[in-house]
Amino acid sequence: MQRMEHLVNPSLKNIQISGIRKISNLVATYKDALTLTIGQPDFPTPEHIMQAAYAAIDAHKTTYTPNPGLLELRQAAAAFVESKYSLQYRPESEVIVTSGASQALDITLRTVLQEGSEVILPGPIYPGYEPLVRLCGGVPVYADTRANGFKLTAELLEPHITENTRCIILCYPSNPTGRVLSREELADIARLLENKSIFVISDEIYSELIYGQHHVSLASFPSMRDKTIVINGLSKSHSMTGWRIGFTFAPAAITQHMVKVHQYNVTCASSISQYAALEALTNGVDDALPMKEAYIQRRDYVYDRLLRMGFELEKPEGAFYLFPSIEKFKLSSMDFTMRLLEEQRVAVVPGDAFSSFGEGYIRISYAYSMDVLEQACDRLEAFVRKL
Ligand code: PMP
Repeated sequence: MQRMEHLVNPSLKNIQISGIRKISNLVATYKDALTLTIGQPDFPTPEHIMQAAYAAIDAHKTTYTPNPGLLELRQAAAAFVESKYSLQYRPESEVIVTSGASQALDITLRTVLQEGSEVILPGPIYPGYEPLVRLCGGVPVYADTRANGFKLTAELLEPHITENTRCIILCYPSNPTGRVLSREELADIARLLENKSIFVISDEIYSELIYGQHHVSLASFPSMRDKTIVINGLSKSHSMTGWRIGFTFAPAAITQHMVKVHQYNVTCASSISQYAALEALTNGVDDALPMKEAYIQRRDYVYDRLLRMGFELEKPEGAFYLFPSIEKFKLSSMDFTMRLLEEQRVAVVPGDAFSSFGEGYIRISYAYSMDVLEQACDRLEAFVRKL
C-alpha cells in the first residue's frame, strides 16, 4: 500500500486536534470521572423550537434554501441584533446564516486573509481561531492580556500592529476567561483603529450570556461599523449546539464575497435548523434569560468555592467559564489536569489549550448541574489540599 500522507497540505501537519477535545476524549475512558470540560449548555433546546423543527419536516421544508439563508431568518436575525445590541444590518445583503459560528469564522477568515496576513489574537483565547488562520496562510500574532485581567486594551494591541496586520479577532464575553470589555474599553480600541485599514472579527457568540452590564458590540461604534464582521449564533443563547446555526453580520461590500465562500463550502445551512432558528429568533428572543439565572447561581457557587480553596482568579462577567491560576502549585497546566483526573476523577481543560498565554491556568466550565458542580468542587478541594 502506498502511503500518501506526504502529499497532504503541509499546513495541516502542524495543526493538532483541540486540547479541549483531547481531554474530553480521555475522560470518556474514566467511567467515574466528573467532567467540567465542555463548552456547551446543559439545558435542552426550548420545546417551542423543537416543535418548529418537527413542523418544518412535516411540511417537507427539507430542500436547499437561498445560499445566505432564508430571508425571513435573516430578517429575524437582523431585528434581533438591532433590538438587543443596536446594530443595523440589511437582511438582503449583510447577513449570512452559517453552519454554526465555527463555519462563520471559516468563511470570514477565508474572505479577508491572504498568504502572510497577520492576525492579532488576544491570548489566552478560544483555540478555534489559530488553525483556521494558518489554513489560510495567515500568521497568528498574540497580544498578551494576562497583566490586564485578560482584557485587551488599545495599549496592549498597538505594539502588535504592522503593515501586514489584516485583522484582529475579539472574543468577548471571552472563552476561556469569561471576561467582558466595557463600552469605554471598546471605545478606546475603536479610537485606535478608526483610521487604520484593519478588520475586526468580533466573535460575540456569548452575547446573551452576560451577567452584569448589557452586551456592547464593537460594530455599534459608527467608526467601526464598516470594519467589523460580527459573528454570532444560537449554540449558546438557545442551547442549540447540535443544530449548527450561526450568523455573520458585515457590510454588503464584504458579505457579497463571503457568500461565495459559503456557497461553495456548504451551499446553505440545514433547512430544518433554519426553521427552528426562525422560531428561536421570533418567539424565543429571551430564551437565554432563565438559563442565565442558573449560570449566575453556578458561577457564584464555584467562584466562592475556588476562592476558599486559595485559587486566584478574576470573577467572570459572561460565558460559562472560570479561569483560575494554578501557578502557586508549581505544576504545568497539563500535569495539574492529568493528576486531578487520575487522583480525583475530575476533568478540566489545561490553560495551554488556549495558547501559550494560558499556561499556568485551568479552565472550568460551569455549564453543569449544581449537583455535579458541588461534587466536583469537593474533589478539587481534596486534591488541592494534598498538593
Ligand atoms: N466561538 C467561541 C468563542 C466558542 O466558544 C464556540 C463554541 N465552543 C464557537 C465559536 C463555535 O460555536 P458554534 O457551535 O456555533 O460553531
